[in-house]
Formats: sequence, structure tokens, C-alpha cells
Amino acid sequence: MAAWEENVRKVVPYTPGEQPENPDIIKLNTNENPYPPAPLAAQILKDINSEILRKYPDPGARDLVRALAGRYGLPEEQIFVGVGSDDVLAMSFLTFFQGTKPILFPDITYSFYEVWAKLFGIPYQCQPLDEQFRIRSADYQKDCGGIVIPNPNAPTGLAKDLAEIEQIIACNPGVIVIIDEAYIDFGGVSALSLVPRYDNLLVVQTFSKSRSLAGMRIGYAFGNHKLIKYLNDAKYSFNSYTMNTVSIAMGAASLKDEAYFRETIGKVIATREWTKRELSKLGFVFPDAKGNFIFASHPRCPAKKLFEALKEQGIYVRYFDKPRIDQYLRITIGTDQQMQALMRFLKQYLGENV
Ligand code: PMP
Repeated sequence: MAAWEENVRKVVPYTPGEQPENPDIIKLNTNENPYPPAPLAAQILKDINSEILRKYPDPGARDLVRALAGRYGLPEEQIFVGVGSDDVLAMSFLTFFQGTKPILFPDITYSFYEVWAKLFGIPYQCQPLDEQFRIRSADYQKDCGGIVIPNPNAPTGLAKDLAEIEQIIACNPGVIVIIDEAYIDFGGVSALSLVPRYDNLLVVQTFSKSRSLAGMRIGYAFGNHKLIKYLNDAKYSFNSYTMNTVSIAMGAASLKDEAYFRETIGKVIATREWTKRELSKLGFVFPDAKGNFIFASHPRCPAKKLFEALKEQGIYVRYFDKPRIDQYLRITIGTDQQMQALMRFLKQYLGENV
């Protein structure tokens, strides 16, 4: 090791799903939306005058914040925006988890939580999901430095009732509770309605899944105006111009097309329910999926083998080589055509191999 390396920050980074260059791959590995963004958002790209890019973006991303305030019925000072919900969550960890007591999140969940905790030196304690992969509310009713609950959870896909979410928020008034709602538009009930009543609640959402804009990197959070002020103070101490001009405009435009939003979500949900029925017929088991993905296991076929066979066939899904979940595949809901191709292959493969 070189002498200078002693003073280097060493981290084990989050591993994102693979982004293959071959466009023919059936890509069901990163929970993207298979449908295009709203036409109004796409129009922004066509109309953009590159002259506008000469200037810095609006540091407050006001067009986007205003559009979010209008769509979700909260004052602008209760909304924070960032470069994907990853950025919003990272800023939130940095801002709100400054204590010495451990923060709590599930053992099987979005693996970025642990990465941020380590990066920022935040003590943390993972709370084991129960045998059916459910988050146990009782585990989050103890002295701690903060709480992060994804609802629906990923990669399990299970959602928690709003009453249970409220109970966790209500019994932790001394710490910030983050509800990560990346997948909420596909199922489950948002905790947004609780924001006016709980000053310790931060609800985080994204344009990456239900609004088909993963490539633009737009995330946001709702919370008490004091929380949002603290978040903005941290953000402006780090980088004033996180959101670029085009993302701000496309995000705001996408919020105007409510009918398209509803239609796209409806299609993904219908395909998800069809896929559940077909997977069951083939003997797969899975927790009740509420997001845009299904976390499935086959009792007679090792998940890793199946993952590799699918990949060979040009069908990418996500496999996590981790305790408790190494017999599961996380399958993103694609178009009907893509899911039919997946089912055709699974039927044939299982017929020949189990
Ligand atoms: N939270 C969860 C639970 C996720 O699965 C993801 C997607 N990887 C994110 C947050 C971040 O999504 P984005 O940064 O694209 O908004």
C-alpha cells in the first residue's frame, strides 16, 4: 500500500444492476418502467434551446418544486428535490443521522442504506424481517438514532399498512423516520397524508419508476418545513446545482400529464398480476408484490442456476448472493410481450431441468 493510501477514505460501494449495451436484452433487472416518459416530458427534449444550458440551473429547482406542490397539495417549503431519490436519501442520512445511537432499517432491504451509513460513519443496526419477509413493527419501537423504512420494501415487494407506518412514526418522536416510497405508486398507501401531523417524518419518492424517468435522475422528499430547511442547508454546503436544467423542466412537465401517469401504472400493475398468476402455475413462490417487481423463488430450481440460464437467453433479472435471499430472483415487470417471452423460457427450462 502506498503511504498516501493510509489517508484515503475506503468504502465498499453499492453495486447497481447491470446496464447492458445490447438493446435486444430483455432487461428486467433494475426496476425501470418499460413504457416511455409522458409525452409532455419528452416534448421538452425536442423543444430545448441549447442556449439555456449556457447558464447555471436554478439552484432551488423552483419550477419542479412548484409542480410537485401543485400535484401533491403541500406548500413549496415542505418539498426537497435531488438527483434521484438516491441523492435525496444520501442527503437525508447526512443531515438527520448525526447521533451516537444506531439508526434502524431492515436486514433485507435496499442495500444502499448500509453503504450510506458506513460512508457517513453513522452507527446502524439491521432489524431482521420475519419468516415471511415482513418488517416487524415491534423492532422499530426502541431507543435509536433514526429509522428508515422502505414501503413497499425492496427486493421483497411487500407493503406495510399506513396504520402500521403511522405507529412507527408516532412512537419515535425524538428521531427522524424516513419512509422510502420509491415504489408506492404501484401499490400500498403513501405516508404523505401524515406529513402535516408529524414533524419527524420524511417521505421520499422518485420519478425513476412510476414516471419512467430513471435516466433524468429526479427524486424528492416531503416533510415539515424545518426538515426541508435543514436538508437544503446541507445540500447548499455540498453542491448548489444538483439538479440540471433539463431534469427540472422534464420533471415539471411530467407532473402535468396525470392521465398518462395513471395509464402507465395501470398497465404495469395489470402485467404484474398476470405474471404472478403465471409464475404460480409454474410452481414459483413469492411474497405479495406491490412494487413493479416480483421476488420469486422456485422450490426445485436453484435461483443462481436459473439466473444464469436466463442471462444466457438474453433475459436479465436480478440475483442477490446473500444469506436468506440467495434462492430468489427479483424480476422487474416489463411489457406484456417481455413477460410472455420470460414465461415461455421458464416453462421450457423448468420442463427440461426439474
Ligand atoms: N429506494 C429504493 C428502495 C430503490 O429500490 C431505489 C432504486 N434503486 C431507490 C430508492 C433509488 O432510486 P432513484 O435514485 O432512481 O430515485
